[in-house]
Amino acid sequence: MTGNIHPVLKEIASFFNNSGKEIYLVGGAVRDMLMGKKIHDWDLATNALPEEVTEIMKRSGGKVIPTGIKHGTVTVFYKRKSAEITTFRTESGYSDGRRPDQVTYAADIEEDLSRRDFTMNAIALCLPGGEAVDPFNGKKDIKAKIIRCVGDAKERFSEDGLRPLRAVRFASQLGFQIEKNTLEAISGALETSAKVSQERVRTEIDKILDSSLPSDGFRLMEKTGLLKLFIAELDACRGVEQKGFHQYDVLDHSLLACDYAAANCYSREVRLAALLHDIGKPKVRGIDSAGVYTFYRHEEVSVGMSREILSRLRYPNTVIDKTSHLIKEHMFLYTEQWSDAAVRRFIARVGEDNLDDIYSLRRADIYGFSGKEPDYRSIEQLVERVNKVLTESRAFTVKDLAVNGNDLMSAGIPGGKIMGCIFKELLETVLDDPAQNKRETLLEIADRIYKRNEAVTTCCTRLV
Ligand code: ATP
Ligand code: MG
Repeated sequence: MTGNIHPVLKEIASFFNNSGKEIYLVGGAVRDMLMGKKIHDWDLATNALPEEVTEIMKRSGGKVIPTGIKHGTVTVFYKRKSAEITTFRTESGYSDGRRPDQVTYAADIEEDLSRRDFTMNAIALCLPGGEAVDPFNGKKDIKAKIIRCVGDAKERFSEDGLRPLRAVRFASQLGFQIEKNTLEAISGALETSAKVSQERVRTEIDKILDSSLPSDGFRLMEKTGLLKLFIAELDACRGVEQKGFHQYDVLDHSLLACDYAAANCYSREVRLAALLHDIGKPKVRGIDSAGVYTFYRHEEVSVGMSREILSRLRYPNTVIDKTSHLIKEHMFLYTEQWSDAAVRRFIARVGEDNLDDIYSLRRADIYGFSGKEPDYRSIEQLVERVNKVLTESRAFTVKDLAVNGNDLMSAGIPGGKIMGCIFKELLETVLDDPAQNKRETLLEIADRIYKRNEAVTTCCTRLV
């Protein structure tokens, strides 16, 4: 391993060794290194106390921030690199299933490793040399692609209800299997998992969404009961059959769409939208006189439910807004009969910045009908039409109009609702015919609309 140890880590290790202290690389970095993957974080474990870590690093020209001092962790910055250094820990007493009641320091690295979740995460590399300390045969499990709890799975899951979800997330992320006892223990620990904070759950769900086949993670969640616990609305999509070109029930369709989005698009919101775009279907499913299932207005219901789910999981508002906007607009069906005005209305509705994402979502949705690469020609034709229309006009919002509020005010139009109404009508006019987007023309039209008092009143009533 020596060859793989970064020179900065070796240097940091020498500061600790010179003070008579041990220091190890631990956690995901070791796992990823053994798998030949790129390392993104350095987690280090030491027998030096946090004050000693601070002292050693400062003396050596490093910067130290006490990021998690309650848990014995400090973050150190040295030569433009950073690492989290945690004093050997043991944890005891998890009365709330969320976090240990107290943190006590462990005597040695073996004891520190024994509190970690999975064998693959409980390997330490002694620095600077990189000799492995592997008391739970983590290396063997990594080789066999197995996720196995350190010690008794039931006990480990009863201590921290996030661990079952981490097992599922790692399985999805790494393409590993969860060992039988570990897998069986998940269903028995759901009560403990229910106590975990939604923020911690979201972090794991994000990592499932970032894996190459998120469906692996969500299917494992379903099988173990975690999906019902955290996204019951999605679990309820199982067995909701659809008809026509759909080959799958709503859950399998959504998972296929999500896999497509994960493979083809970096956007978190597109992946979330692919997962949740049909979440309203179980609620609105009906059956028509010919015995065919209907899902009228499902996108509206899906928007409301997605907002609820994403807020519950504490996603930031920006993510919630964008995801629900994509879901709201996901049902367009382009044909060559669309007029240029219809294409412009589509751009105005979706928003120029969201066009690529809505195409991705629509492709993902179509992929989810069959799980096979289908014919995306109609989307490609729409992209072409949109690009052509964009070269001819860039007026898709009120802000793009050739008149502003001051112009209308000077023309004698009162502010407030009436002006809002008139702007809306002006935009409709320009979407119909971009050539009208000239100051004089729009002022004339505005004046006409205003004088046609009745129309304004109707429009305003509509607005209210
Ligand atoms: P990632 O690549 O996602 O960062 P990771 O294994 O590094 O994976 P972290 O959450 O960064 O995960 O945690 C670092 C290490 O801390 C883990 O490898 C594991 O040893 C330990 N650990 C983290 N969370 C838990 C937990 N809930 N219970 C027990 N040990 C944990
Ligand atoms: Mg990590």
